[in-house]
Amino acid sequence: MALLAALPAWSHNTVAASPELFFQAGKIRTLILSGRNNHDWRATTPFIRKALENTGRFDVRVTDEPAGLSPAAVAPYDLFILNYCGPRWGPEAERAIGEAVRSGKGLVVIHAASYPFGDMEVLARGHGRTGIREKPWKEYFEMTGAKWTEGPPRSGHGKRHVFEVRIIDRQHPITAGLAPAFDISDELYHRLILKDGVHILATAYSDPKTNGTGRDEPVLWTLRYGRGRVFHTILGHDLGAMYSTGFVTTLARGAEWAATGKVTLPAEIQPRPRKQNPVRVELVIGGHDFAPSLMSVFESWNDVETNVVWQPDAYKKGRMERADVIVQYDMAQTITEEAKANLRRHLEEGKGLVVLHHALASYQDWRWWWKEVTGALYVLEGTPGRPPSTFRHGVPLITHTVADHPITRGVPEMYIVDETYKNMWFSPGIQVLIRTADPSSDGPLVWIGPYRKARVAVIQLGHGPEAHRHPHFRKLVRNAILWAARRQP
Ligand SMILES: [Zn+2]
Repeated sequence: MALLAALPAWSHNTVAASPELFFQAGKIRTLILSGRNNHDWRATTPFIRKALENTGRFDVRVTDEPAGLSPAAVAPYDLFILNYCGPRWGPEAERAIGEAVRSGKGLVVIHAASYPFGDMEVLARGHGRTGIREKPWKEYFEMTGAKWTEGPPRSGHGKRHVFEVRIIDRQHPITAGLAPAFDISDELYHRLILKDGVHILATAYSDPKTNGTGRDEPVLWTLRYGRGRVFHTILGHDLGAMYSTGFVTTLARGAEWAATGKVTLPAEIQPRPRKQNPVRVELVIGGHDFAPSLMSVFESWNDVETNVVWQPDAYKKGRMERADVIVQYDMAQTITEEAKANLRRHLEEGKGLVVLHHALASYQDWRWWWKEVTGALYVLEGTPGRPPSTFRHGVPLITHTVADHPITRGVPEMYIVDETYKNMWFSPGIQVLIRTADPSSDGPLVWIGPYRKARVAVIQLGHGPEAHRHPHFRKLVRNAILWAARRQP
């Protein structure tokens, strides 16, 4: 009994004191406070998280129940981001955040979080009225440097529109090196009560034509609270406002400054970062219809850049020279001798090939192709002694990995609903990686082709959305592309 009672206390202390076991080393430990908002937090909170993580500078967590925060829960974090507009959290959570910031941790306040905890009515989901007014949390105003008021004059904003945000302090670490202004489609708040001494970094002209005040209104500011640093942006009404270089750049740099007092991030940060040294894929389609969900497979990776080409033009000169890997999802029969020569040259240069699904029925009259390269053929028209291949849609399959290979790494046995082929021709030179025992299939589902000058991977799966959206199918295709490109999956 004594031992059991002692154990939880001992392990709790050890783990709570060791956040390095659970966070990425050297990154700013960030907690987004979300889950209540008159705005669409379900869309914007994941965006904020991703935008910050994309910079490589932040390890980000989210709580949708800030009212449950305690000193122990906030202890591991360097930075808190408020994407919150709702009721008060109660004494323990409010004290935990207030003390954390006062003791030197960073705080970022985004758009909706300018509004709560003051004199205004609590707003519900979708800007709904509640009729509820709570006792103000006075410290919140001191900490964030602004509050909304019923007035007069009343705080608010004009019509949502595109306006120019002008940087008025270009020496501050957050804004140093930035362009002097940026445009954004957002709400421009006006007539907020600002705490004396806040440091305004940027303003925008609030145009009476869009129901504005005719004055420059503050957009970005900083302040100190105790030993903590606070960055406040009134931008970020919705995903469309956030999906802009100006928003993401100032948010990420403001967040880095709030947490560390310094800014190392670049002066321009894209909402979706450019791919670094990506594998260049030519995705060949045409000759067979397909579900558009196929395209989502190729949209899901940061290190693969895909260009889509249609048959019969896919292998024309000037089209495919830049490709590291050709991925075939076409079902073309007659391709020109020039196309064959170009495709052959791609392989002879040691570049990669991934053959997906119905591309196994392509180029039936090009024997070298299916005998020596892919090692298999879906036979469209039978000949004496060789019946045509058959297919079946919507088969619930269990797959078995039969070889340890970079392509199968991280891909467990799958349960997947997909189309199967049977009575295909196979070369004895293929190396099968994944099979199924389903009687509607010949068995092999993933294999390596017999060709030796280039890496050739074949995946028979991939008919429709059930496969295209299956995380392990995606992983298979990604592994095959990276392996064919001679990269590490
Ligand atoms: Zn708004």
